[in-house]
Amino acid sequence: MGNIVAIVGRPNVGKSTFFNRLIQRREAIIDSVSGVTRDRHYGKSDWNGRKFSLIDTGGYVLGSDDIFEAEIDKQVELAIDEADAIIFMVDVESGVTPMDEDVATLLRKVDKPVLLAVNKVDNNKRLENAVEFYSLGLGEYFPIASTNGSGTGDLLDALIEALPEIEEEEESELPRFAVVGRPNAGKSSFINSLIGEDRYIVTDIAGTTRDSIDTRYNRFGFEFNLVDTAGIRRKSKVKENLEFYSVMRSVRAIENCDVCLLVLDATRGFDGQVQNIFWLAQRNHKGIVILVNKWDLVEKETNTMKEYEAMIRREIEPFTDVPIVFISVLNKQRVFKAIETAVKVFENRSKKVKTREFNDVMLPIIERNPPPAYKGKYVKIKFCMQLPTPYPQFAFFCNLPQYVRDPYKRFIENKLRQEFDFEGVPIDIFFRKK
Ligand code: GDP
Ligand code: GDP
Repeated sequence: MGNIVAIVGRPNVGKSTFFNRLIQRREAIIDSVSGVTRDRHYGKSDWNGRKFSLIDTGGYVLGSDDIFEAEIDKQVELAIDEADAIIFMVDVESGVTPMDEDVATLLRKVDKPVLLAVNKVDNNKRLENAVEFYSLGLGEYFPIASTNGSGTGDLLDALIEALPEIEEEEESELPRFAVVGRPNAGKSSFINSLIGEDRYIVTDIAGTTRDSIDTRYNRFGFEFNLVDTAGIRRKSKVKENLEFYSVMRSVRAIENCDVCLLVLDATRGFDGQVQNIFWLAQRNHKGIVILVNKWDLVEKETNTMKEYEAMIRREIEPFTDVPIVFISVLNKQRVFKAIETAVKVFENRSKKVKTREFNDVMLPIIERNPPPAYKGKYVKIKFCMQLPTPYPQFAFFCNLPQYVRDPYKRFIENKLRQEFDFEGVPIDIFFRKK
């Protein structure tokens, strides 16, 4: 769980340079719905132990100046709606431009932290020149040089200071589900179907930030929280930005959940954007259930479901141990099954295998299939255990961990999954020196 920080600003001011300096791992969020090429990035960072996600909403835009302007406006609007804090980057080399002034006008009205970063301040002369950015009416600014990192420490100190406090994951035993997917896949319909005729409780558990609002459900005898992906709110925002809004929401929802219910439209298939969301969830170590919705619209022959399932499994290799449920929200088909499966995945993700049992099962398997000799050396695995982490991680202790290759790791993962049910849950396997 963490805050989202957006970087906005004109092209070429140095947003990507800054972004790349800060993030540990880059996740591209690409959408090309409006016909212009946009390439936006999302990554994780932390400063003094405080974690946050950074979104470079910028990217580049091909087209006339008019398109530029419209794009920047959208970018800023997006940041205002979705981020917890905004870094507005300008360029001391070019000085204050009309476009900077437009953006500043939008940002002055926002009641979220806005940090003005004056970039490319590489020398003292430029430090003097930076003063002109006071005219933007955003108060104090931070002179930085993204290329060498100077000044970024002060900026990040101020950022952390300004970020709304997020409480540590509350000790709720209830599963937290996020319903994610492309626009029109049927997410809202799915959520609405949970507010059915049965007994249900709906309480808003106000989170600490505007967007982390959970709703508690009691449905089909299961209790769980739905992380509000805001998919229901603001349905018809700027048309061509819809896709990106939905990706942004998915990012936030995925970060705040235990299990993602990835809803896809059966008539559209498992396309690129769905895959992005899938891998985002996987890399965030979240449980995943794939819900193939609108199954009523698909013409079925004997093997249609099997073939469809096989198609999806090919797309998600090598992480194929994921439940796939075919549903029709419209016909109320298998909605129960969907929730039941999500609860099971939640249990799998929280499962702790006892060390004794784990060794009793895994060591004989390893003995029968030891790691192949590498450069004439033999790897001896002596002991293994599940680590006491929030999601499943396993350590295998051996003499020469550096000689264990990926195929063997995959072999171990497959065996582990066969023996212990971790369906729907990404797992990590480490080989460590003993
Ligand atoms: P974006 O379009 O806002 O993402 O900008 P980029 O990060 O692509 O940077 C645009 C150009 O500015 C690149 O040539 C960078 O090398 C350059 N640049 C970025 N930061 C600095 C800086 O601190 N000092 C100088 N002199 N150049 C920079
Ligand atoms: P969202 O954008 O993902 O929240 O999607 P919606 O829930 O708004 O659904 C988009 C459209 O798909 C609406 O017109 C729904 O009525 C329709 N829809 C949702 N689920 C089903 C289904 O199972 N079968 C069919 N045929 N249509 C569905």
